[in-house]
Formats: sequence, structure tokens, C-alpha cells
Amino acid sequence: MIKLSKTSKLDGILSWSLQALDTCQGSIGSDGELVPACSGCYATTGNYRFSNVKAPREHNKEDWKRSEWVSDMVKGLDSSRYFRWLDSGDLYSVELAQKVLDVMTLTPWCNHWLPTRMHKFKKYLPIFEAMQKLPNVVVRYSSDSVTGETIEGLTTSTIFSDVLPKGAKECEAYKHEGKCNGCRACYDKDVSIIAYKAHGVKMAKVIKILVAKQ
Ligand code: SF4
Repeated sequence: MIKLSKTSKLDGILSWSLQALDTCQGSIGSDGELVPACSGCYATTGNYRFSNVKAPREHNKEDWKRSEWVSDMVKGLDSSRYFRWLDSGDLYSVELAQKVLDVMTLTPWCNHWLPTRMHKFKKYLPIFEAMQKLPNVVVRYSSDSVTGETIEGLTTSTIFSDVLPKGAKECEAYKHEGKCNGCRACYDKDVSIIAYKAHGVKMAKVIKILVAKQ
């Protein structure tokens, strides 16, 4: 059985998620340490540590391997106009990525937003490129930065602390108690870069350490 999550931040839009870090091969830098953006990851703290939040994510890690998973997901999105992949976790398997592409292809009525760090691995790129060609899909390559550095890609995102990166659209969820409040910029192909303002105690510590190193 598919398990979709509904988070209040996303205005009730459904998402399908995996456990953070376990499935995030792209979270490890060349030095073997977590990259800055993942060091302060929201999905490793707060509610995300509770067993009732972890359970569906652990279930999903096995569930996607079923042969009926794609058709079950298509049915599950029957009345969705927007869908967020991976509120936590990442596409850790090419086979899973291919299945997600199949779901996107079979649900043209639904706008999909897929943030990922797996663009670092070449074997995923043809699948991401096929996803991006679909009119209803935005794959957003995530930058590792928490200080606003941006990366190559048609649609990307970054985290910033002080100065909004040039050409980026700022996520204004923080002005609306952390909710999207009708904004759908992340799902919009015309919005090239989304910049999220760093927030939270953990992220503040990461930025403090980075600044001290400079
Ligand atoms: S940019 Fe808009 S759609 Fe994206 S997370 Fe922020 S409020 Fe939500």
C-alpha cells in the first residue's frame, strides 16, 4: 500500500518521502562529511525523529519495489493537481528514479516538484533530463551551500543566510508561519532558482562554523 504524507507547510499538498540521510548519497561531500545544506537538514530534527513520521518513510523504502507501485501511485494522485516528491530523503536508486519518471509521465494532470542532490551522479542525469522534458515536472537540483551559492541547471535551489542570490526567487514561507500560502514557485519551470532563507538553531550553528573558517 502506498503511503503519502500531507504536510501543513505545503498547503495540504501530498508528498512521498524516504528517511533522510539513509537515502541521501548526495549529502556526503568529497571530504566524507555531510555537506553544509545537509548538516542543518530540517528532516533530521523535530517531528521527523518521531516513530509515526519515520514509519511511512521506512515503509516507502521497501514499497516502491512492488510491481504495482507505479499504478498505485497513479491512482493515489487521481485528484491531485500538485505533488511534492521527497519532503525528506532522496532518489537513492536508478530503478526508483525510473519508476518515479513513469508516475510523472502517467499523471499529466498533476504538477510534480522533485528536489534532489542526485544530480551529482551521472547515471541519474538521463532520467532527470527525461523528467524535465515533461510539461508537468520540475526537477530542482539542490545546491550544497547555505550561503547562497548556486549551481548549474535549468531549475535549482539554494539556501542563503544574508544576501538573496542574484536572479533567485526568495521562498517567503517564513512570512506565513512556514506555509506556502498559495505560492507554487517550486513547481514552476519559469522560476529558475529558488532561495530558501536559512532557519533553525541547527542551521545557525552550521553557518557560524562556516563563517569562523573563512
Ligand atoms: S518557494 Fe513557494 S512553493 Fe516553494 S516552498 Fe517556498 S512558499 Fe512553498
